[in-house]
Amino acid sequence: MINDIPINTILSVENLTMRFGGIVAVNDLSFTAERGKITALIGPNGAGKTTVFNCITGFYKPTSGVIRLRHSDSEWQLETLNDFRISKVAKVARTFQNIRLFPGMTALENLMVAQHNALMRASGYTFLGLFGVPSFRAAENAAIDLARYWLDQIGLLPRADDAAGNLPYGDQRRLEIVRAMCTEPALLCLDEPAAGLNAKESGELNELLLRIRGDHGTSILLIEHDMSVVMEISDHIHVLDYGVKIAHGTPQEIRDDPKVIAAYLGAD
Ligand code: ATP
Repeated sequence: MINDIPINTILSVENLTMRFGGIVAVNDLSFTAERGKITALIGPNGAGKTTVFNCITGFYKPTSGVIRLRHSDSEWQLETLNDFRISKVAKVARTFQNIRLFPGMTALENLMVAQHNALMRASGYTFLGLFGVPSFRAAENAAIDLARYWLDQIGLLPRADDAAGNLPYGDQRRLEIVRAMCTEPALLCLDEPAAGLNAKESGELNELLLRIRGDHGTSILLIEHDMSVVMEISDHIHVLDYGVKIAHGTPQEIRDDPKVIAAYLGAD
């Protein structure tokens, strides 16, 4: 039973270790993320950031450690759950370093697929024949409304019927993020969402993430190498190097931290 993490904490990673044979990718790492805030995980290549995401989202079983999530009056220990339950029950959504849209499906269809579970639940009632058809229709209409809302948020409503693979790269990146938002997550984990974006697209990404945090109150855990994005939108930053946390603080504190500067410049 979890009763000792602060009320404003949504995620508490405690003494997390992940080994791959002789490699210690994450080494006794502890950090927290606050509810309704943007928390960034940064560090040089190979520091262990994606491995942390893989442990949080159930893709890897940690070697040791505890990952607690608390929201909506419920508490979970994520390291005990599989990826399906982490996503559907604990409401953790993620995006990946590489874009994973369905390129041949339309933008709207990509957002509908994200709501597949809610629709399947509704169609179960149809199967039973208990007020089924109206229930499914209502769920389908709600799913379309939600998809259209998020398309509008990223300016893609006019291109709802275009194949996702034909959209500009920056739009595809943001489409992936709003697809994750269609699952109505409590915690949104974004792995390098700014990778490959130009300055204008990075600005649009920042705007979207600030709106997700501000208007929707969604907590965001962000891995990002683009320091202009990290410094502009993060509330709090944790810095990893060789699987160990070497610093944490506000963007200003991190920018001036000699340990962080040394890690990035490769100095001792
Ligand atoms: P980047 O910024 O380059 O994406 P990262 O901080 O996300 O790096 P990870 O991808 O978590 O770093 O990798 C941390 C270390 O763990 C690296 O040495 C990597 O080679 C190793 N590693 C990650 N996944 C595996 C795996 N499945 N098997 C073996 N080693 C792995």
